[in-house]
Amino acid sequence: ADPRRVSIFGATGSIGQNTIDLIARDPDAYDVVALSGGANIARLAEDARRLRADVAVTAFPERLHDLRAALAGSGVMAAAGPAALVEAAARPADWVMSAIVGAAGLAPGLAALEQGATLALANKETLVCAGPLVLETARRHGARLLPVDSEHSAVFQALVGEDMAAVERIVITASGGAFRDWPLERLASATAEEAAQHPNWDMGQRITIDSASMFNKALEVIETREFFGIDPDRIEVIVHPESMVHALVGFRDGALMAHLGAPDMRHAIGYALHWPERRDLPVARLDLAALGQLNFRAPDGARYPALALARRVMARGGLSGAVFNAAKERALDHFIAGHIGFLDMARLVEAVLDRFESDPGLIDAPMTLDTVTQTDHLARQRVDAAMAQRAG
Ligand code: NDP
Ligand code: MG
Repeated sequence: ADPRRVSIFGATGSIGQNTIDLIARDPDAYDVVALSGGANIARLAEDARRLRADVAVTAFPERLHDLRAALAGSGVMAAAGPAALVEAAARPADWVMSAIVGAAGLAPGLAALEQGATLALANKETLVCAGPLVLETARRHGARLLPVDSEHSAVFQALVGEDMAAVERIVITASGGAFRDWPLERLASATAEEAAQHPNWDMGQRITIDSASMFNKALEVIETREFFGIDPDRIEVIVHPESMVHALVGFRDGALMAHLGAPDMRHAIGYALHWPERRDLPVARLDLAALGQLNFRAPDGARYPALALARRVMARGGLSGAVFNAAKERALDHFIAGHIGFLDMARLVEAVLDRFESDPGLIDAPMTLDTVTQTDHLARQRVDAAMAQRAG
């Protein structure tokens, strides 16, 4: 068979590197079209050379010079900036990994769908900010979306051969993050470094901190709603400290199908890469007897206010997902920079949601890439404005 044409956006990140690990094990099977990265020019250039990509793109225009230098003589074309990312995503490919972090992943993902590629979606922000637009774009161009987020891959696998009409509920698990067992009163003074220690998964810094606050789970609840078209009150979150059960699907006859596996993203990435087949993957096999037990408990709403905010966003609809995600991203920037405390993130996001809800003209505008982008920018400005107000 001809090699499959693949592109990887966010190639230098945690998901991107795991994707490259799988592809590099079988180099003749793939023809790498585009790789993208951000600040890590050395990694991007090395992988682009090794995988003989057609083009390598850094998200940051000021790094084009460095990328060109790093690719000199390799035959790989260098490009930079958001428009170049979209152009690279429009290059014909059969399978595209969307693993940029944040709302910056939306535009390249849409471009990949518009050229009909199968989009393996790690970038959950794409569905949180613009679910209806993304699904409609996929439909119009006959493109397929496959989940890569571990919970959503687990649900997708539990649904093979099933009818959504028979689904009563979807349960996604949460490890509880770095502060699961901290006393509540200690959370206010938690640092970004402490929040970036995940008990089970090795992931990028931002999603790891979002796991501690459960903003990650909040985004995933919205992602579940969009991906599977299920009613929000049929989606449950359960704390499961071991991260071995990734999700469960409950059916109308009472059956609950659980998906178990070691916490290694190469399973979900590999499933999306080989779908609809299953192939050998280099992931650890679970030894249940050695594990002995698995634990579950209800999430504490006081500890994890982000979960209630997600419910509010789903009830409101429109562009409120774009507001929620952008406000969360900006609040996270400020937390990482040490400007605000851990608990201030949810307070700021809530204040910005309040402000948008009192201004329905904005949130109910038709959903296009432009309106989503504008709303995203405005929500970030409003986080800064809310901070200035609190400081003054
Ligand atoms: P990382 O931070 O490890 O990697 C992010 C990638 O995006 C890097 O390639 C980075 O480049 C690039 N990047 C950073 N900023 C920009 C920007 N402004 N524009 C374009 N590209 C940019 O993140 P993860 O791999 O952890 O996560 C990627 C996505 O996958 C996120 O949406 C996350 O929520 C999701 N996800 C991740 C999981 C995981 O296990 N890591 C699990 C499930 C979902 P560089 O590093 O060169 O600066
Ligand atoms: Mg997940």
